[in-house]
Amino acid sequence: MTDIPQHDIIRYLGHRRTIIGQAPGRVNLIGEHTDYSGGFVLPTVISQTTAVALAANPDASCRVWSHAVPHEQQQARYTVGEEARTGGWVDYVQGSTAVLRAAGYVVGGFDAVIRSEVPLGSGLSSSASLSVSLLRAVRELFQLHFDDVVLAGLARKVETDFIGVPVGVMDPIACALGAANHALFLDTRDLSWQLVRIPSSLQLAVVNSGQRHNHDTGGYRQRREECDAATRALGVQALREVPERDLSRLDGLDPTLLKRARHIITENARVLGAVEALRKRDGARLGALMNASHASLRDDYEVSTPEIDRLVDLARAQPGVLGARITGGGFGGSIVVLTLAGRAATVAAAVALGGRQTLGLDTQVLVPAAE
Ligand code: ADP
Ligand code: MG
Repeated sequence: MTDIPQHDIIRYLGHRRTIIGQAPGRVNLIGEHTDYSGGFVLPTVISQTTAVALAANPDASCRVWSHAVPHEQQQARYTVGEEARTGGWVDYVQGSTAVLRAAGYVVGGFDAVIRSEVPLGSGLSSSASLSVSLLRAVRELFQLHFDDVVLAGLARKVETDFIGVPVGVMDPIACALGAANHALFLDTRDLSWQLVRIPSSLQLAVVNSGQRHNHDTGGYRQRREECDAATRALGVQALREVPERDLSRLDGLDPTLLKRARHIITENARVLGAVEALRKRDGARLGALMNASHASLRDDYEVSTPEIDRLVDLARAQPGVLGARITGGGFGGSIVVLTLAGRAATVAAAVALGGRQTLGLDTQVLVPAAE
């Protein structure tokens, strides 16, 4: 767990009463890009977290520091009640107080110090882990009363309503409600969820490729628009409504929309298969589904990169690997690998080294975390 060093607290917050909020990053096992068309997802938490230390101010002013960004951007200021988008990281903080106020909660000003172990823009949801940890700290500081389910909804609004990134609902729910050693099976249509134990015979490895994505521009937004277009062309409310056995309904769609819709529809079926495989402790089946998910994201949804494909291949060539795929929104980011118990550390190290040596990538092992 990330710690806010005592010297940071004293330097930035002085000797005021301090509240700490924490939230983990997340890795999605399967169910990618399905969370904005009412589909299924299956994330779990990673041990890297974001931590925020807060101290109240007597007025509405806020000063915030983050050590996760370049030096010249580490400090920012704003006033609660006058939140305005800047395009910088402080929007996640401003957005949090803005959505709280819009929901009728009374919040004052504060100073905040942020530390994070979740790499930014790597498909492991540093953004939701920041807004969830901040909202937790603000909730405690101003004695607001709402549970983590409501909090996750507020965290999502930070991105969709304030920052204007059309993210799905998976990330804040995973960061707010996820639990170690469990996958969170979430139905994004009605937000019902349950925790499914990851059997001790299986282990995960997560390696960051070092290729950063940006959801605000380009591909992610375009995929969402293509999904919306496919939804309209099929005459349904959400692609979730089309079961895999009805794939022939896609015949006649524009070829690009057909591929996008095919990914979503088959991916939803794969999540259901993955939940069943976890419950039956069937690692071979879960691994095969993860491999199929990667192929679909690469060929139909076209959100992988050649470097990520190579990392996935490197992983699959390691002994004890059951499956591997890109994880997160794509266009870079991380891969998740399913291994037999006891193999994950060796596999992750081999993938990270291979990525550095043969592809020149700035790879980083996240899971299993170094002791
Ligand atoms: P991801 O959530 O996959 O890591 P996003 O693009 O959704 O990627 O979010 C990354 C952005 O979130 C960063 O560019 C930054 O603006 C903000 N962010 C996340 N964590 C921090 C942090 N610890 N400090 C400052 N900004 C952060
Ligand atoms: Mg994010």
